[in-house]
Amino acid sequence: MKNQLFTNEKSQIAGIAREMANLDLVSGSSGNVSMRICDEKPGFMGITPMGLPYTELKDEDIVVVDEDLDSIAGSGVPSSESLLHLGIYNYRSDVKAIIHTHSTFSSVAALSHEGIPPILDEMVIYIGGSIEVSNYAFPGTEELAEKVCKALGDKNAALISNHGAVAVGSSLREALNISILMERVAKIYCYARMNNQIKPLPESAIEKERAIFEMKRTSKQSTGEN
Ligand SMILES: [Zn+2]
Repeated sequence: MKNQLFTNEKSQIAGIAREMANLDLVSGSSGNVSMRICDEKPGFMGITPMGLPYTELKDEDIVVVDEDLDSIAGSGVPSSESLLHLGIYNYRSDVKAIIHTHSTFSSVAALSHEGIPPILDEMVIYIGGSIEVSNYAFPGTEELAEKVCKALGDKNAALISNHGAVAVGSSLREALNISILMERVAKIYCYARMNNQIKPLPESAIEKERAIFEMKRTSKQSTGEN
């Protein structure tokens, strides 16, 4: 019976998790994907399970938990980073989906503790500007969730110090697209730093692009798009 609940949501989450793994944004069973289901109990969010390689992931393995992280559907054990996902949903009411990756170049950028300045137009339009790095906290803790929320602010992506990255969106597809964009930006930034060839975006462009980012968010909220 427990496995018959939320079949549509579990299928969507598993599909995006498999795509994430096929894109090399994670390896093995690392990283995790979640979707906000309902702000009221039961069924707060669906999330990928702990310790299961994505090559073996089936729709029914996705776990649906309530706000106390008690499992109410799905056969797996909720991801060890469930507190991170819960913390972000509580911090940002506009966020409907979260993807946490251990992608290579984002992880390299997460070592610098400086983040990635706004170097590409699409970065400001889709992510909201620079990508900040959270202060270090141990994986799986509430402290990590708090520090990542601080680094995220009102943007769609953040780097997790000495660990990886997180992308958020108004849908699973948007969160995956942000993860892909962030990894590409991090790759470009890492290569550019190798030969000191970094010319930042002009302030006037950042201002206009940030206005587009905010307009997109407002239109999604007013139309209830998710
Ligand atoms: Zn992780």
